[in-house]
Amino acid sequence: MKALVKPGAGPGLELRDLPVPEPGPGEVRIQVSRAAICGTDLHIEAWDDWAAANVTPGVTVGHEFVGLVDAVAPDVRGIEVGDRVAGEGHVVCGTCRNCRAGEFHNCRNVVSVGIQRDGGFAEYVVIPASNACVIADHVPDDVAAILDPLGNAVHTALSFDLVGEDVLITGAGPIGQMAAAIARHAGARHVVVTDLSPTRLEAARQMGASAAVAPGPDSLRAVMAELGMVEGFDVALEMSGASPALGDIVEHVNNGAKIALLGLFGQPPVVDVNQVILKGLTVKGIYGREMFDTWYKAVAMLGSGLDVSPVISHRFAIDDHKAAFAALRSGEASKVLLEIG
Ligand code: NAD
Ligand code: ZN
Repeated sequence: MKALVKPGAGPGLELRDLPVPEPGPGEVRIQVSRAAICGTDLHIEAWDDWAAANVTPGVTVGHEFVGLVDAVAPDVRGIEVGDRVAGEGHVVCGTCRNCRAGEFHNCRNVVSVGIQRDGGFAEYVVIPASNACVIADHVPDDVAAILDPLGNAVHTALSFDLVGEDVLITGAGPIGQMAAAIARHAGARHVVVTDLSPTRLEAARQMGASAAVAPGPDSLRAVMAELGMVEGFDVALEMSGASPALGDIVEHVNNGAKIALLGLFGQPPVVDVNQVILKGLTVKGIYGREMFDTWYKAVAMLGSGLDVSPVISHRFAIDDHKAAFAALRSGEASKVLLEIG
């Protein structure tokens, strides 16, 4: 089978011909139809410090994918050959305190598909049956392929009550754009998005943002005045991983506001912690998706009017993986699909 592999401890990826994997106990094999490239895959391709510390060389990459189950281990119940499934990429231990409390997203021993074990940029991928999510027919394959990052957006956006609230989203990458659509769908009053890129700001507007502006104290204050906001944002979703964006949030939220942090910072961010204290802010870190309530809510919202399909900007055959990665790296693309099967 074709598989896009990290060949060794260094930059680059290689399309290889590998044997079709067999599912072990408790596992299923998926014939992948579509996959999507994540920012994490760019780190893996480039082999930066994060990749060197976390990626197993030789691994098949890719953790956003959808396909049909084509083999199940004899002990698997509840998933059958022919089911259309998307993969949850975090394989949890099931035995740590959080797992035993049903808090799988906080597992201490998580192993990531496409990072530490073989992933979905391949014609076939094997994952634990418990990581395979059967997807309702109303979700098209293209959107099913991005349920992982949509889940990041859902987990972050629904961490706090948004009904009637004024929401600030910093970062209009694909996840920030989808979060804007979710906040709108969930009943927020104003949804304001910041980003440095005019293309991404326009994309955020199309996804339902009330306003989308370049960051900075003056621009945010002006938008707040235009919208008639007198006190500050009630909820903020940090989706850029940029330190100045976190500063914008702390400055522009109301006292008692709630902040959910998804963006991963390249360098430790500089933040005025006294403001966090004096404003009585609640800060929550978000990792991955809640298993599996986030998946349930994402699919349910997609069935009740949430449309995130505009975030898909490019598609390529897996043979053209170099062009696909270049499109995402250029900053012009949002979600880039790989057509595999
Ligand atoms: P992305 O890199 O495509 O988007 C980030 C956006 O932030 C870019 O459009 C960039 O222009 C913008 N930005 C940069 N500086 C800014 C500033 N000062 N103010 C406002 N915007 C600014 O990323 P993505 O794929 O949409 O993911 C969003 C973030 O979430 C990334 O940091 C990613 O690493 C992180 N992430 C975290 C998890 C998790 O489990 N915690 C999972 C997936 C992604
Ligand atoms: Zn665990």
